[in-house]
Amino acid sequence: MTREQYEALQDRQLKRFIAEEVYPFHPYYGDLFRKHGILPRHIGSVSDLRHFSELFTTKTIIAAQPEAFVVQPTPKRVFLSPPRTRPLVLVARELARAGIAIPNLLFDQTLNRLPSLLYRFGRVQLPRPLSAKAFLEYRYAPHFPTGTTGRSTGGVPTVFWFTGVDMARMAKLGSRYFSLLGMGNLQPQERRCIDLFPVSIHLADLFLREVSRGVPAMVFPTGGGKGIGTERSLRVAEASEARLLAGVPDYVERFLEYAVDEKRNLSHVERVILGGDAVGPKRRESIIELLRKCGAMDPVVIASYGFTEAKIAFIECVEGAREGGVGYHVFPELGAVEILDPDPNSRGEVCWSTIVGAGTVVLRYRTGDHAAFSWEPCPACGRTLPRIVGPITRKTSDMIKNIAGTLVDFNHVCEVFENDASVTEWQVEIVGDKNAGERINVFVALREGIDQDAVCWRLVSAFKTAADGLAPYTIRVFSHEELVVRLGIETELKAQRIKDLRKEA
Ligand SMILES: [Zn+2]
Repeated sequence: MTREQYEALQDRQLKRFIAEEVYPFHPYYGDLFRKHGILPRHIGSVSDLRHFSELFTTKTIIAAQPEAFVVQPTPKRVFLSPPRTRPLVLVARELARAGIAIPNLLFDQTLNRLPSLLYRFGRVQLPRPLSAKAFLEYRYAPHFPTGTTGRSTGGVPTVFWFTGVDMARMAKLGSRYFSLLGMGNLQPQERRCIDLFPVSIHLADLFLREVSRGVPAMVFPTGGGKGIGTERSLRVAEASEARLLAGVPDYVERFLEYAVDEKRNLSHVERVILGGDAVGPKRRESIIELLRKCGAMDPVVIASYGFTEAKIAFIECVEGAREGGVGYHVFPELGAVEILDPDPNSRGEVCWSTIVGAGTVVLRYRTGDHAAFSWEPCPACGRTLPRIVGPITRKTSDMIKNIAGTLVDFNHVCEVFENDASVTEWQVEIVGDKNAGERINVFVALREGIDQDAVCWRLVSAFKTAADGLAPYTIRVFSHEELVVRLGIETELKAQRIKDLRKEA
């Protein structure tokens, strides 16, 4: 499909979604629209959304009233709001159910008289549609939660609900994701995947399982170190001859380091999907290197970008992952991406509007992530699906911090450590309070056999440049194992890279 066709599809979808789902059934946006006098007919296309400056959603707004973001139809509104055909369809369902019951009964009675073998082969069962009630519940009743990590909302996770249709939609995407991974041609018995994501409230974990259900592919959930443990996960990966590994970058790296130490055979692994955190080139190289040591021939590391609020994750195509920096393919019929206040390189804040489904729905959600968006055909794979092009930098309160009067952008600080080949793990700790002074402590683990002092001096000066002149108070060298424990790679949802231990003033 061309860009024009995608955009036309998106506009139709959005228009229908606003008129039939959001305006009548969504508590938060319904009220907001009525308060500002916005009618469904004012929103005919994605570009119309830009005219409503009051229509912005942030993490804090959702965290304050998460239930108000769940689509909630009432019987009265189901019958009175568009489309006019909805009540007719619901009544028709009930009639069809009753009508089909009679022929089914007749068939059964006739066939019952035949010999049992013939009966079994000849059995006729007309499929009965779901009843109106069951259909509405399948569509609207929340059924599966995913949660944010709560990093920016004071540690309280916000729950996002999926309904039956949301789950079915994810499953339907299965084959498209597998073709992006370049694994579309695998035989069913070859589609084996090890799920190293933590507990299933993690969006990536749910996503992986639903997508695999739709393909269908085999998935072995392990809980990412917290479930069955690294040793047993590794045994499963080896014994199942998994072709696909999926997990958060820190843990996958840890998992593979362990595999190398134990001299395990992971020669079947072809692809690794990383989710939940940014992946730099150094990390990618290191994971490929570790996999080669475990016997993998030509592994490809595929990064993903997703956020709980969109209830979806986007991945790189396999060709793009080999080249690097091509971006994440977006399915435009599921949601609209806007780039707010783009700079000359057309990079700006990513803003997402859901245009399908039910459960928790957000419109114009400000992610706080900065990236570019491109409709150009992918230079690596040639697909016309649009792309979110990185590097993705986070501009949220957990990445931009005021320390002792200096505004530090931790995106730059991360780069210092991520790009230094001598650093294997790192952690930054912010301690103290406003009165006694705020300090930064840096903990690093370094490669063996290098001049530790020289590396530390280099890191301190690079840190100072990245943090606008603020130098770390101390820098300490730990062993790799010690730092893995400190970071909580095997015990936390996300590694604690930047730990803010300051007391609230
Ligand atoms: Zn591509």
